[in-house]
Amino acid sequence: MSTPHFDRIALIGIGLIGSSLARVIRREGLAGHVAIATRSPATLKRAEELGLGDSYHTDLAEAARDADLVIVSVPVGSSGEVAQAIAPVLKPGAILTDVGSTKGSVIAQMAPHVPAGVHFIPGHPLAGTEKSGPDAGFAELFRNRWCIFTPLPGTDPAALETLSAFWRACGSNVDTMDPDHHDKVLAIVSHLPHIIAYNIVGTADDLQTVTKSEVIKYSASGFRDFTRLAASDPTMWRDVCLHNRDAILEMLSRFSEDLASLQRAIRWGEGDKLFDLFSRTRAVRRSIIEAGQEVDAPDFGRQQAAGQPKG
Ligand code: NAP
Repeated sequence: MSTPHFDRIALIGIGLIGSSLARVIRREGLAGHVAIATRSPATLKRAEELGLGDSYHTDLAEAARDADLVIVSVPVGSSGEVAQAIAPVLKPGAILTDVGSTKGSVIAQMAPHVPAGVHFIPGHPLAGTEKSGPDAGFAELFRNRWCIFTPLPGTDPAALETLSAFWRACGSNVDTMDPDHHDKVLAIVSHLPHIIAYNIVGTADDLQTVTKSEVIKYSASGFRDFTRLAASDPTMWRDVCLHNRDAILEMLSRFSEDLASLQRAIRWGEGDKLFDLFSRTRAVRRSIIEAGQEVDAPDFGRQQAAGQPKG
C-alpha cells in the first residue's frame, strides 16, 4: 500500500511517543489535521508551544471526534479510562490503536468500550528512550524499529494494512503477534532488563560501605549503562510491572535460578563455566548489531547520536 493519508488523526497523550508521532506525521504529511489531547493543561500548553498539532484539547473526546485514526499513547494503566472517555464519539470505520508496552492488559481494558464498526488494533512500537514528555520526542524515533500489532480475532485485514502502512511511513518495520506471546517476549527483552537496572541502581544507592560520590565518579565501569535504563519514567514502568505481572514473574523466577547458578560457579571457581556463558552472551550482542538494532561503538554510539533512538 502507498503512503496513507488521514483527514484527521487524534493523538491522545503527547509525551515521548505521542510527540514523536506528531513530529513524524507532520514531516511525512500523513494527516490533514492533527488533534492533540492530554490530561494536564500544562502539557497541552507545551505541545502547543512546540506546534505539534493543529488543535489542542483537554477533553479527550473532543479530539477523537471525527478522527479516522486515534492513537492512544498514555501509561498502560490509564488505557481503560481513556477508551471509556472517547468511545462514544468514535466514528464508524475509524481505526483505534495504542502504543502500550503491555498488550493483554490494554486489550482487557480497552476492548469492552470499543463500539461496533470501529477497528481496534492494539500496537506497540519497540522504540523509546529514558526521557518523557512532549519535549523528548523526535521524528526519527521509530526509524528502523519494530512496531508489533496484536490484532484481535476478526480484525479487518484492510484496516490492519492501513495501520501497517502508517507505521511503515513513520519508518518502522511491522510484525503481528498473539498478545500473550507479545507480553512474554517483551518481559524478557524489555521489562526484565529495566527491573534489573532499577534494582542494581537501587542497591548501589543503598550501599553504606561505598559512598554515593564514588558510585558516580567510577560509574563508567559498567554501572552507568544501567543508570540509563533506571532513569526511565516511574509512572510508565510502575504500570508495566503491574500490567504484565504474570509474564514478568515467570521471567524473574527463571532469572533468579540462572543467577544462583552463576553465583555457584563463582563460589566454586568454575572458570570454564563462566567463560562459556560470557562467550555465549557476547555472540548475542554481535547478532543484535548485525540485525541493525544497535551500533558497534564504545559508548553504544550514544554521545555521537544525541537525539537518536536509545532504547
Ligand atoms: P510520557 O512521555 O510520560 O507521556 C505520557 C502522556 O500520557 C502524557 O502526555 C500524559 O499527560 C498522558 N496521560 C497520562 N495519563 C493520562 C490520562 N489518564 N488521560 C490522558 N492523558 C494521559 O510516556 P511515553 O513514554 O510517551 O509512553 C506512553 C505509552 O507508550 C506508554 O503506554 C508506554 O508503555 C508506551 N511506550 C513507551 C516507550 C518508551 O520508551 N517510553 C516505548 C514504547 C512504548 P499529562 O502530561 O498531561 O499528564
